[in-house]
Amino acid sequence: MPEIVVIGAGPAGLSAAAAVRSHGQRVVLLDENPAAGGQIWRGERTAVAQGVETMFGTRALGIASAGMLLCETSESAVVLPFRKLVVATGARERFLPFPGWTLPGVFGAGGLQAMVKSGFPVDGKRVVVAGTGPLLLEVAEYLRSRGARIAIVAEQARWTSLIRFGLALRHAPSKMAQAARLAFSTLPRAGCWVTEVHGTEHVEAATLTDGRRTWREACDYVACGFHLVPNTEIAAVLGCHLEGGVVWTDDLHETSISGIYCAGEPCGIGGVDKSLIEGEIAGHAAAGRLPVARLFAKRARARRFAAALDAVTRLRPELARLAREDTIVCRCEDVPLSRIRECSDWRSAKLLTRCGMGPCQGRVCGSALESLFGWRPESVRPPVQPARAGTLAGLTGSA
Ligand SMILES: Cc1cc2nc3c(=O)[nH]c(=O)nc-3n(C[C@H](O)[C@H](O)[C@H](O)COP(=O)(O)OP(=O)(O)OC[C@H]3O[C@@H](n4cnc5c(N)ncnc54)[C@H](O)[C@@H]3O)c2cc1C
Repeated sequence: MPEIVVIGAGPAGLSAAAAVRSHGQRVVLLDENPAAGGQIWRGERTAVAQGVETMFGTRALGIASAGMLLCETSESAVVLPFRKLVVATGARERFLPFPGWTLPGVFGAGGLQAMVKSGFPVDGKRVVVAGTGPLLLEVAEYLRSRGARIAIVAEQARWTSLIRFGLALRHAPSKMAQAARLAFSTLPRAGCWVTEVHGTEHVEAATLTDGRRTWREACDYVACGFHLVPNTEIAAVLGCHLEGGVVWTDDLHETSISGIYCAGEPCGIGGVDKSLIEGEIAGHAAAGRLPVARLFAKRARARRFAAALDAVTRLRPELARLAREDTIVCRCEDVPLSRIRECSDWRSAKLLTRCGMGPCQGRVCGSALESLFGWRPESVRPPVQPARAGTLAGLTGSA
């Protein structure tokens, strides 16, 4: 019998797969990464529930035909039959263009952390960590533990917003303790952001401002991320309805397409606890069982945290004005801001400038254009990620 297939082996997908297995049903868990764990665990300390079949190094691309998921491995195309699907594809960092952001030595904050976990040395390097969101604190602490010297942790949110966020955590004492520990160990500077990065071949310094004063910090690397963007592309390609930039689901995490469930960050950014709980609910539901009531109470708490996170990471308007006319906005196709200004929406930007048509398929510049101009992609077409021509021949593009 075709199985329940879970796309994404981060906290949400792992939890969904374990819930399906708890009912003795077959489940296949696939991930494009070589190991389970998603963004937070990256293969470390990650246990896959017993009996879950895994397919790592396997990227889901779309639907081959009814009930058949088209995937690709490094060797070949794979068509996977499924009875139900759970989409748990997580999130990525949001980047905003500013002068110098394409210089070597400017990384996404989580991206630099991931590289260091894979062996990239930062010992003795001076790093500016900037942007918004709790990930900055995690990254700063991690880089310091690997020998980096943290020049500054620049958080764009104001102190007043951070205090409101802190108060909102009073119902989640463990999160409050974690936030306080990280804030004390990394000492972020609130209401502060990078306006420009300088260097010829590589980053040499960053200019920062707090809106009143502007100064330069010499540095070897800039780790910069503006919170996270849900990875909704696969769900969209499967035909699932999106609302406000996230995948719409009912209470049991079933999407607008019957038999396709979604859990974790694609349903809204909310951290590891929310992903774990939503994955568990989706897994039980996909297996045709009713999740126990306590899970819904836990999810409600996790969603309150997500709402507070959303409020504190709202971007200040100054950030949308950092790019200059010659600043590259779409780095895959080398499109500067001046060319994008000639366009009226995302579609015309694509047609006239090829913005969003490169290998990242708008995954980087798409969220930047949304922040700069309020444009959202009108539709997502397969392939959502680069794929071999032979694999693409198998795509039909709808669920
Ligand atoms: C770069 C980065 C670093 C982060 N670091 C931390 C951290 O240090 N600490 C922390 O608390 N939180 C961190 N987070 C936040 C963390 O991701 C969330 O809090 C939470 O763990 C998300 O769980 P998830 O299962 O919803 O998604 P994820 O953990 O993102 O898992 C989604 C999985 O889906 C896979 N996937 C996506 N699309 C496909 C596809 N088409 N085919 C196959 N597989 C696919 C991905 O490879 C990934 O493994 C980080 C986020 C990012 C983006």
